[in-house]
Amino acid sequence: MPLIHPTMKLKPREGKRARAGSPWIFSNEIVMDAELKKLDSGEAVDVVLDDGTPLGTAIFNGKTLIAARLVSPETGVDLNAAFFAERLTRADAIRSKLFATPFYRVCHAEADGLPGLVVDRYGDVLSVQMGTAGMDVRTDTIVEALRQVFNPRAIILRNDFGARTLEGLPSETKLVFGEAPGEVSFVENGATFVCDPMTGQKTGWFFDQRENRGFAARFAKGESALDVFSHAGGFALAALAAGATEALCIDASEKALGLAGKAAAASGFEDKLSLRKADAFEALEDLATQNVRFGLVIADPPAFAKSKKDIEPAARAYRKLARAAAGVVAPGGTLVLCSCSHHIDAERFHAECAAGIHQAKRPARLLRASGADVDHPVHPHLPETAYLKALVFALD
Ligand code: SAH
Repeated sequence: MPLIHPTMKLKPREGKRARAGSPWIFSNEIVMDAELKKLDSGEAVDVVLDDGTPLGTAIFNGKTLIAARLVSPETGVDLNAAFFAERLTRADAIRSKLFATPFYRVCHAEADGLPGLVVDRYGDVLSVQMGTAGMDVRTDTIVEALRQVFNPRAIILRNDFGARTLEGLPSETKLVFGEAPGEVSFVENGATFVCDPMTGQKTGWFFDQRENRGFAARFAKGESALDVFSHAGGFALAALAAGATEALCIDASEKALGLAGKAAAASGFEDKLSLRKADAFEALEDLATQNVRFGLVIADPPAFAKSKKDIEPAARAYRKLARAAAGVVAPGGTLVLCSCSHHIDAERFHAECAAGIHQAKRPARLLRASGADVDHPVHPHLPETAYLKALVFALD
């Protein structure tokens, strides 16, 4: 298509990954000419190779290491509401084949062709995160497209997360359409959950663990379950719905535990769920000292490595957690260990978990290694963006 945006030229022989299909073009790969220097973050550009061959339409940011994110292999694509509506319709069509009810991540950024845009769908309430300037400057257009495609009751911007500062964007939470929805409830893995998309953690709920919660619950029947870093009890309630005799949620957040309590009430498990507000490491030590053991233990902490420099301390923390959690698994029990740090790769996480379990002197089998559920797809040329790791061990 004809070039309609300012042109961004790649240096000779540069942009190898982008030419092979990756959406990311790095700042050292482009010719930073006077025209480009004048552009605001978030503007659309037509990208061409050194010899003028068109590469596609991208969104520019002169402030970041990733200087441009391709959104189409065609140049001259207008990033209007129709463009966003088409991408969102396609993303929703995939999810609606996979899930019986409309509670899922409907847009997972690059993987759904919209770099930096995350949309979680709670029925007719949409909770949105914009991690790039390109999405941020198009807020009105995106809201228009979301209204067209989903006819929602409310759209909330949850732009209150750390990564936005890298893009030079402010932290804010805002209702951009409809009325404040309050709490929403939905059924997952046989239990009824409650979350608040306006004030809860991230967008309100962690849909990425849905399938891992269901898998862990297969080991729950007749067992006691311990859900460490429980948030609103996603693992604990799935275990109770699958026949666990009792469950204990440990979390440092009172609010998260409050939601777990509401989920237990809504699911009819009030008498089987206990809540403990505590630091996870301290609580595990207490349980071990008191000789309390559980047939199923899940530890799903927040990201210990927020940047590359945290890798070594984070790795040690994952090892320590594996050791402490293994220590409270009953003989013949099951241990689920998770990491959502994308700076710790699957191989390293596996090694640290194995070391921690060994330190606890617990012979183990690795039954399953998995990632995020299918509503969190991965761009085929960005395998490094697959951040979630979940390992299931059977302990002797
Ligand atoms: N397992 C949850 C998601 C966990 S998110 C699910 O399936 O939905 C991580 C949780 O860890 C958050 O709820 C946060 O409040 C809690 N947390 C963070 N630091 C903690 C600490 N030191 N001790 C206990 N909980 C902590």
